[in-house]
Amino acid sequence: MRASAGSAAVLAVHAARAGELDDLEDWVGRDPAARAARAAEVEQEAAADGDAVSRMRARLIQADAAERSGELRAAAEAMWLINEWAYEHRNRYLIARSHLLLGRTYRNLGDVAALLEHAVAAVEALEDSVPARRRLPYVVKYADALTETGSIDAARERYRQAEELARHSTDIRDQIMVLNNHAYAEYLAGEPDRAWAVIQRMCTTAVAHGHRLDPNDLDTVASVQIALGQHAEAEQTILAAIGGYPDGPQEADSLPEFLLTLAITRRLQGDLVAAQDTLDECRDQCEAHGHGEILVRVMQEQAELHGATGDFERAFAEHKRFHAAEREVLSTAREAQARNRQALFEVNEARQEAERFREQARRDPLTGLRNRRYVDEQLPGLIERASRTGAPLWAALLDLDHFKQVNDRCTHEAGDRVLIEVARLLIEMEPAAGFAARFGGEEFLLVITGMDGSQATEYLERVRAAVAEYPWGPVTGELPVTVSIGADAITPGVAQAELLARADAQLYAAKRAGRNRVCVDAGALGRIQGTEPVRS
Ligand code: GH3
Ligand code: MG
Ligand code: MG
Repeated sequence: MRASAGSAAVLAVHAARAGELDDLEDWVGRDPAARAARAAEVEQEAAADGDAVSRMRARLIQADAAERSGELRAAAEAMWLINEWAYEHRNRYLIARSHLLLGRTYRNLGDVAALLEHAVAAVEALEDSVPARRRLPYVVKYADALTETGSIDAARERYRQAEELARHSTDIRDQIMVLNNHAYAEYLAGEPDRAWAVIQRMCTTAVAHGHRLDPNDLDTVASVQIALGQHAEAEQTILAAIGGYPDGPQEADSLPEFLLTLAITRRLQGDLVAAQDTLDECRDQCEAHGHGEILVRVMQEQAELHGATGDFERAFAEHKRFHAAEREVLSTAREAQARNRQALFEVNEARQEAERFREQARRDPLTGLRNRRYVDEQLPGLIERASRTGAPLWAALLDLDHFKQVNDRCTHEAGDRVLIEVARLLIEMEPAAGFAARFGGEEFLLVITGMDGSQATEYLERVRAAVAEYPWGPVTGELPVTVSIGADAITPGVAQAELLARADAQLYAAKRAGRNRVCVDAGALGRIQGTEPVRS
């Protein structure tokens, strides 16, 4: 190890920062403003000492916070940018995490198909090396997405996997969270009996660990009890939820929800006076804190309650109020949704525009082939991966023979035509694994993976022959067009520049030997034989 004291200290700082980011990512449901503020500071610190990955993680936490506070457009834009950065830098963790958050963003817009797409992409990108505890939210989100898109069977399998992962966690809330989400999924799928079975496991687990269910868990329990007609039990559960309700602003709409559920359970048990009192309390809460959507359901329940007391005139009047209010809430919600969709659409447009630009910047305008910039971005990664897996990787440089003569004896346009046609042949013959690029002037690069020495030689020989045998007459008249090709394969630890220099030496040899021929490094041919991959 050459790490000096200085770089060891830097590594320690980065590791500590990664730990703090883990905590900030998990920090959901607590003070969102403090979370975003701390993430912004971490972003600055990471930027200051060149810790790019932490910088991106910190930015994603801020986008997460922005989305939760309703700043949808800015949040989605940031998430997409980080998603692209992650793909460009092959950072699988950030690929996964940005998809996870994009999934939630789209879900909140009512686009469950996009939720599922992102949830799948997130799970796929997660590496096995990510510890079980940190994989858990991804698997649960995937299961929730399957539930919401109507695939409860597939969802059950994922909840089972999530339970398995949660068993590795030292935090009992992880197990409870999985069981709660699973129970609610069964409830949504219209399977209250199955939901009840999961709830019983949740309760047993909680008791075994001396853990108190939180109000949200209890809300799931009460919903299922109501679905099963256990109204008295539902009332007790909801009273426990209200009793355990935490102070603070973060879950402001839970309390009126609980009160509404309580009023319903009381009406269903025939306790109409208590039901009316509870409903009044709920209405006060809604009016004080502006919960328009819940208020509409309060009106609906009020109509039910008037009906239950036999006051049909007031029931009917309340029904009409309810329908008018519902229409208004729906149209406001639809407008907001349309605005959000428009905003996301614009983000998408801008993103595709940027992608088109990036793609263009990586192509040679004359031939449409990949250019040098593309090679410099892709080849190092391919070399690194091939070195790691032991798969053969060849670089072949291809140069037109006596090309100056085409320009001189025909025209420069004829020269361009030749380059375009050669590029077309290369695209037609592009190897299944690898790519062709215009490397500059009248020089091309072929990157080939997975072929042994004789396969690569044979392939390059076919390329050479295809150029030589092409009917060039209409373009160059009498003048033949041929290419010389030089190739070499990677050796462990080789850098791109060295590999290309060695291919160039072979190209030079081909030229010296009379042109219109293929030269492949003899050492590489000896090393890479048969179907055995190279070993380092
Ligand atoms: P050799 O067999 O040794 O490679 O001979 P050559 O004539 O090909 O030699 P050299 O590599 O020195 O010449 C390359 C020529 O290719 C010079 C340049 O004018 C021409 N060329 C480079 N880019 C283009 C292009 O985009 N269009 C055209 N028409 N000609 C180009
Ligand atoms: Mg040349
Ligand atoms: Mg040449």
